[in-house]
Amino acid sequence: MSTVVSLPVNNDVRASFDRLAARVPQVSQSTAEQRIARIRRLMAATLAARPRIYEAVKAERGLSPPDVDGELVMLKMEAEHIEQNLADWMSDKSAPPSLMTLGKKCYLHYEAKGMVLVLPSWNAPYVIGFLPVLGALAAGNVVIVKPSELAPQSSRVMAEIVKEAFPDGEVTIIEGGVEAATALLACPFHHIFYIGNNTVGRIVMRAAAEHFASVTLEMGGKNPSIVDASADVEDAALKTSWGRMCNAGQACIAPDYVFAHESVFQRYVDALVREITAMYNPRGEGFDKNPEYPRVINARHFERIKALVEDARAKGAKIVMGGEFRAEDRYIAPTVVTNTTPDMKIMQEEIFGPVIVVMPYRDREEVVSYVRKHDKPLASYVFSKDRESWEFFLKNTTSGSMVLNHNVVQSGTNPYLPFGGVNHSGIGRLVGFNTFAECSNARTVFEEGPKVVDPRTMFPPLTDKYKKQLTQLLEGKPVPAGMVKAIDGLIRVVGLFKR
Ligand code: NAD
Repeated sequence: MSTVVSLPVNNDVRASFDRLAARVPQVSQSTAEQRIARIRRLMAATLAARPRIYEAVKAERGLSPPDVDGELVMLKMEAEHIEQNLADWMSDKSAPPSLMTLGKKCYLHYEAKGMVLVLPSWNAPYVIGFLPVLGALAAGNVVIVKPSELAPQSSRVMAEIVKEAFPDGEVTIIEGGVEAATALLACPFHHIFYIGNNTVGRIVMRAAAEHFASVTLEMGGKNPSIVDASADVEDAALKTSWGRMCNAGQACIAPDYVFAHESVFQRYVDALVREITAMYNPRGEGFDKNPEYPRVINARHFERIKALVEDARAKGAKIVMGGEFRAEDRYIAPTVVTNTTPDMKIMQEEIFGPVIVVMPYRDREEVVSYVRKHDKPLASYVFSKDRESWEFFLKNTTSGSMVLNHNVVQSGTNPYLPFGGVNHSGIGRLVGFNTFAECSNARTVFEEGPKVVDPRTMFPPLTDKYKKQLTQLLEGKPVPAGMVKAIDGLIRVVGLFKR
């Protein structure tokens, strides 16, 4: 028996699900204008709630307004992109003719999947929670979101925003923790977006299997960054300092560890320490005194990150910078760790905090073999001025995304750049048309063409002529696409006269 069958079904959750499910037939028929109006309502309510959002993220992670404004800009750009393209996305997409469908009308018709569930993480709750909602609304779905219980103030604000934008409940927020998520996962949703760690990702995928719901899983892992011998070392250190330390390292695409070529290793470590200090302790008063240096989300994550560093320290790692922890306000100083070994927990688990590991390497094959031995990362980064070296890493490793000479800039910055992981780090793609497509059934439509050829020629009893045509198709040369198109056109013209 599957584990999912035994999931408890919370009656309130199920009642909300059923209430919303009753709206699917009507909402799925909505026009582009109606969908855009819903998206605008969500965006207007979100932007109007900025003072409440600032307060929530300050309390949760010590973030300042510009940090969360960046998140909201991404959301707004996504909403505008949808508005500009939705009519086109919703239109039927005709398939080019093929030899087997001459004269027929073949196309894809995008229809809403129906009921969509969003289970987002806490580390950028507004963009992570609402971005899938925008795509789901664009595709004509009804949506339930359960924000992360790890960011309770933001969960409250998100619930208020949604209530203001959708008093009719077409988007509904259900607040709560694992119990609420579990009850929701027992409901027969048609598509589930889950953004979080891959242990829970497995639970979500198993639950989805029970109802054959499709899933978009946006997960994390250990993202490598490679600094080769040709790299602009100072530039790499500057960008990595920001990439790792923004949001106190609580970003899914942040670099987790760096492989720096042995010829530039020490220069890189020194530059990293210098740049992190210049960025987050510019007046030398202490990182903890900087009101713009964020905090870790909760005591559990604080203790988890502390244990990773302490374990590394105890097993002989060198703490080049930082290594200070203060439980009272969940402060972890920016920490740079070297001299690590594979048996250290810091080399096995995603750090997801303001700590970075730097390792020297001699041969690039060493780097490739290390990366390939581990789970496929969400993101990887290469700092290099050598095109051949970049292409070597691009071709010999895999990850959801890869960036040359920068980091953490590939997500939410271009609606035409789909975002997602690969296997362990994710399934499916988000942003722009991709989110719309994940929430749609691209229905295959085939309309019979004009009666130019008698359909009986293909049905039993098969004629010798038909059998000969099959043999020709099997044994003959491919028919050029241009010729297929020409015959298709001819059949359509003849069809006009045969109506
Ligand atoms: P989290 O703990 O907030 O979990 C996310 C959601 O899953 C929440 O709604 C939570 O209630 C639910 N959940 C938790 N345990 C559950 C269970 N046992 N059964 C059912 N539902 C459950 O988030 P997290 O996992 O701490 O998030 C951090 C992780 O997310 C990191 O690994 C990070 O890399 C990853 N992440 C990935 C992306 C991406 O876009 N790929 C974005 C952000 C974070």
